[in-house]
Amino acid sequence: MRTQKNARSFSNACKVIPGGVNSPVRAFKSVGAAPIFIDRAKGVYLYDVDGNRYIDYCLSWGPMILGHANNVILADVKKAISRGSSYGIPTTVETDLAKMIVDAIESVQKVRLVSSGTEAVMTAVRLARGTTGRDKIIKFIGGYHGHVDHMLVSAGSGALTLGAPSSPGVPKDFAKHTILANYNDIDNVKKLFEKYSDQIAAVIIEPVAGNMGVIPAKKSFLKSLRTLCNKNKSLLIFDEVITGFRVDYGGVQKKIGVKADLTCLGKIIGGGFPIGAVGGKASIMNNLSPQGSVYQAGTLSGNPVCVTAGIATLRALRSQKPYAALERRTKKFCKQISEVLDEKGVAHTINQVGSMFTVFFTDSDVTDFDSAFTSNTKMYAKYFQQMLKADIYLPPSQFEANFLSTKHTDAHLKKTIEALRSIKL
Ligand SMILES: *Cc1c(COP(=O)(O)O)cnc(C)c1O
Repeated sequence: MRTQKNARSFSNACKVIPGGVNSPVRAFKSVGAAPIFIDRAKGVYLYDVDGNRYIDYCLSWGPMILGHANNVILADVKKAISRGSSYGIPTTVETDLAKMIVDAIESVQKVRLVSSGTEAVMTAVRLARGTTGRDKIIKFIGGYHGHVDHMLVSAGSGALTLGAPSSPGVPKDFAKHTILANYNDIDNVKKLFEKYSDQIAAVIIEPVAGNMGVIPAKKSFLKSLRTLCNKNKSLLIFDEVITGFRVDYGGVQKKIGVKADLTCLGKIIGGGFPIGAVGGKASIMNNLSPQGSVYQAGTLSGNPVCVTAGIATLRALRSQKPYAALERRTKKFCKQISEVLDEKGVAHTINQVGSMFTVFFTDSDVTDFDSAFTSNTKMYAKYFQQMLKADIYLPPSQFEANFLSTKHTDAHLKKTIEALRSIKL
């Protein structure tokens, strides 16, 4: 692995960008490695500025389900760009993408397009508060919903009910309306509803957690959340920014048969371009301005280039129906990873849902934040670093999801397993 240009790029970046990166985890801090700088990508491959080529299992954190620089998406995007890149006035392609989302996700009747997943969550939470006239939001420990102030509240050791901000700059007064619950623990949520019965605007959840590593919510848990929200006239928000169009064309909600009131989307629906969306029942969505009074706006919202990339991606997914094959391949791959780790005598638990998975270096079952944190992060760092040297790019943190794309073939997976076999853990 050549590193000279990567190292120089990083030191140059650090002079003018805080920490040298525009999103913290890219700095590779938690895996104790020097970050790589990407020059280009194609299919399953990333090429860095030193000319190293990696098989990519991070896929820009999920969006690139059809692989990098997909020819079909690129052709549509080039056409779109040649007609101008932003107008700040409606286009018909926005309606086309909204229609595709409405057709795909049963609980969604109307959609507002924004520019990131963070913005989608911010809008969903404001809309839930505006609709119910209540302030409090239940979120789960270890759940990530973008860097919105109110959502940057996670595990305070012991303080499991009232939120304390997990970042300086988030006023306590903002965080106090965020109530923390344990993932997959319905009794905990019930107690919170008893305590704050008529104050809870919404429960927000990743129905398959992807940001403390992959942890599926139990079906019975999500069904009970639905019932609790109905009983207490609170809204249920599914943050499907990762899982939407990833685990199924209709999201997790299609797979498990639980309908959300509001659904947040992002990542895949932009085909690698910046986008986000919030959708839900028309009666709730109509409260957004200009139809209703809950304010939301965006200079580049519904950007025609991003929307075109999203449409091309969804169209390909709708016609290819890759989900069953992706799941089969991912299952088989996880089994092979597990076998090699067993041979090496390394304790591990692999969680997998569809084409997303995490190898946790622990021997306990991983069902929530606490069990995820029994993982040996030093072992993960070793695993990451050595796989990188063997030309395999994994998510640079134990607590993130791995993804497969439709371009990952048996040959790529075989090469990855051989790399895993060759490293020392
Ligand atoms: C990525 C992500 C977000 C934030 O999306 P951005 O586009 O990074 O702002 C929100 N929720 C979940 C579940 C995510 O995975």
